[in-house]
Amino acid sequence: MPDPRDGDDRTAAPQERDPAIDARPGTRAVWAGEHGGFMDRATQVPVVGSVAFGYDDLDTWYEVATGGRDGHIYGRNTNPTVAVFEEKLRLLEDAEAATSAATGMGAISATLWALLRPGDRVVSVKDTYGGTSKLFTEFLPAYDIEVELVDTTDHDAIEAEVARGCDLLYLETPTNPTLKVLDLERLSAAGRAAGAVVVVDNTFATPINQQPLHLGADLVVHSATKYLGGHADALGGLVAGRGELIERIYHYREINGATLHPEAAYLLVRGLKTLQLRVERQQVNAQGVAEYLAGHERVTVVNYPGLASHPQHALAARQMRGFGGMLSFGLDGGLEAVARFFPRLRFAHAAANLGSVETIVAPPATSSHVECTREERAALGIPEGLLRYSAGIEDLDDLLGDLAQAFDGL
Ligand SMILES: *Cc1c(COP(=O)(O)O)cnc(C)c1O
Repeated sequence: MPDPRDGDDRTAAPQERDPAIDARPGTRAVWAGEHGGFMDRATQVPVVGSVAFGYDDLDTWYEVATGGRDGHIYGRNTNPTVAVFEEKLRLLEDAEAATSAATGMGAISATLWALLRPGDRVVSVKDTYGGTSKLFTEFLPAYDIEVELVDTTDHDAIEAEVARGCDLLYLETPTNPTLKVLDLERLSAAGRAAGAVVVVDNTFATPINQQPLHLGADLVVHSATKYLGGHADALGGLVAGRGELIERIYHYREINGATLHPEAAYLLVRGLKTLQLRVERQQVNAQGVAEYLAGHERVTVVNYPGLASHPQHALAARQMRGFGGMLSFGLDGGLEAVARFFPRLRFAHAAANLGSVETIVAPPATSSHVECTREERAALGIPEGLLRYSAGIEDLDDLLGDLAQAFDGL
């Protein structure tokens, strides 16, 4: 039982086992971390803006400060609203521990800087998110960390590079924007055999569709900005996985200072309650849009793991519970056709974002791969006429009608 002098707040030691542990993902997204009640018995998670948390006796303060007792000291380290967000993701990813950051890149860079040392070797793939790729090519090598980026679909080549020596294997699947799929079970086993820490960016799949920790990864990272929040109104990042690794990443992040803001955590918690509903609807829409586009004469290619024509369709079907809400497609007529096509869409934002309740389109040349030259994009298999499509939760028939009228205007 909580000590009544502690009030009903979340700083009291956890009292009971969280019932969400025995629940399914949809229930976990709604309830995890929320049992025990909040201030004045509020049913909703409050935004605790307080930067510091006060104590009237030195012993309790000391115990909390040194980790001997649950509680909060200072907002750069921990915060009750942020803790609810972390707990939801910890349970959704079935992880031992989880910690958050101000953005997805905050979580990814904290993970890399906390775990890597000069002389270490990282193996990853060519198709990682643009910001991650910049860390690999621009920042880590300056600290004598070797990074080998392998052709994303060549599993034999990835295994061979891992076997040559690897301290950290960094994977992302499905990839942005061409939706390539990596075999997480196979590659995690290779990473572990080499003694590497295996990290997976699970932003596109979300824990509703894919749980990398169940497939052998040590850590899973997220841009919560995308599907987890789901409303394009809050930035956030998360890392979940093995407790001793999360402790090191948390320690780096608390010193580095890229802390998730309580207001953002509140919006992310609210968004998470509908994660399963949104993803289920988004992938029904994505499948319908992908099938429609695959039959269209102006479309040169459709990349969606849910299409039988996708080169890794069988792997995706085995590894994922659903194929997700992201796809990309090529227009004949290249960048010029893209420039004429997307402004005609009435039910899609054209923006550098994804995973929101609204449909969003973006040409890689102005979003995910804006830093690359035309030749670099071509080498990654990204034609200039490609459009990334993040299906929203609208009615599918309206999305199909919208695409049809945009094609009519081409
Ligand atoms: C957006 C994104 C990131 C970076 O997240 P931010 O919240 O923008 O920092 C990382 N990985 C993937 C796959 C993303 O889509």
